Amino acid sequence: MAKVYYNNEINESVLQGKKIAILGYGSQGHAHASNLKDSGFDVIVGIRPGKSYDQAVEDGHEVYSVQEASAKADIIMILLPDERQTAVYENEVKPELSAGKALVFAHGFNVHFNQIVPPSDVDVFLVAPKGPGHLVRRTFEQGAGVPALFAVYQDATGQARDLALAYAKGVGGARAGVLETTFQEETETDLFGEQAVLCGGTTALVKAGFETLVEAGYQPEVAYFECLHELKLIVDLMYEDGLAGMRYSISDTAQWGDFVSGPRVVNADTKARMKDILEDIQTGKFAKGWLLENQLNRPEFNAINRRESEHLIEKVGQELREMMPFVKAGKKKAAKEVVS
Ligand code: NDP
Ligand code: MG
Ligand code: MG
Repeated sequence: MAKVYYNNEINESVLQGKKIAILGYGSQGHAHASNLKDSGFDVIVGIRPGKSYDQAVEDGHEVYSVQEASAKADIIMILLPDERQTAVYENEVKPELSAGKALVFAHGFNVHFNQIVPPSDVDVFLVAPKGPGHLVRRTFEQGAGVPALFAVYQDATGQARDLALAYAKGVGGARAGVLETTFQEETETDLFGEQAVLCGGTTALVKAGFETLVEAGYQPEVAYFECLHELKLIVDLMYEDGLAGMRYSISDTAQWGDFVSGPRVVNADTKARMKDILEDIQTGKFAKGWLLENQLNRPEFNAINRRESEHLIEKVGQELREMMPFVKAGKKKAAKEVVS
């Protein structure tokens, strides 16, 4: 079994007295900045003028431009969108890097796929919470935390590993468990998880189930509750107690259906497709496609996004959720939240 680190095993003093710049104040940025500050660390935010900037000021942070924050800080955490990091890094971060500083990421993408090549005299590590940023903040405020991975890519000071662990503790990750990984493993498993299971796999499964019922003449509202709304309730049980815990709560009829029909939906052929997806990630094919898509101003991304927003499940869902305000309560900020 892998070694999992918890709060009591981590000495955060290595991070005390260091200035930490959080670059970007979106889903992850706001959570890291506020959690680290509440943990007693010296945090500043680096962000361009706009909505995020205003939010960071409103939340009481010391806010600068990306370049100014990079100049002032010892530890520079890049929480900008992956596809924009390279340009911002080259123009505003790199000029301010000096020997002994630390460059930190929450996802290994740009370093692993050679978009950012840090100088050899800085520490480079990642601390990647395994959950959406808004939950990284919400759970921290509740006294809990989201598990996190950490990895050292380059240890120039001899302190990179201790800094990574201290940072993970500061954002609340070590309340839930922190695991050591590599940039390669974090990047490839994160991309695979979100594509095959968490985001891609789940949305495709939900849509296929919904469409099957609607095409057979059942009411879209019934199909929505059955295939989308209830999914959260089932996943909550799996989250709390594993597959067996969920199966304990459902009826034996549902459990028998789970056993005989589940493998008919996700079968050997599906697993072969998953292996194809993993291969595209491992070979860099997926990364190359996504980087090119961005260079071309996202023609395919935008077209698919538009088509998806017009799907019947979205229209029906919007109406039903209007009548269930408790579903949305406190979630306004999380509307854009993604598992990434
Ligand atoms: P978001 O899109 O939520 O936030 C990005 C932030 O960067 C915004 O504050 C945005 O500000 C700012 N920004 C964008 N472009 C620039 C620019 N040119 N100059 C300055 N600021 C800019 O990003 P995420 O939090 O989703 O992702 C950040 C990193 O965390 C990524 O590496 C991602 O893979 C990783 N990650 C994300 C997770 C998540 O839950 N979303 C989970 C785990 C890791 P503005 O409002 O001005 O656009
Ligand atoms: Mg992820
Ligand atoms: Mg991701």
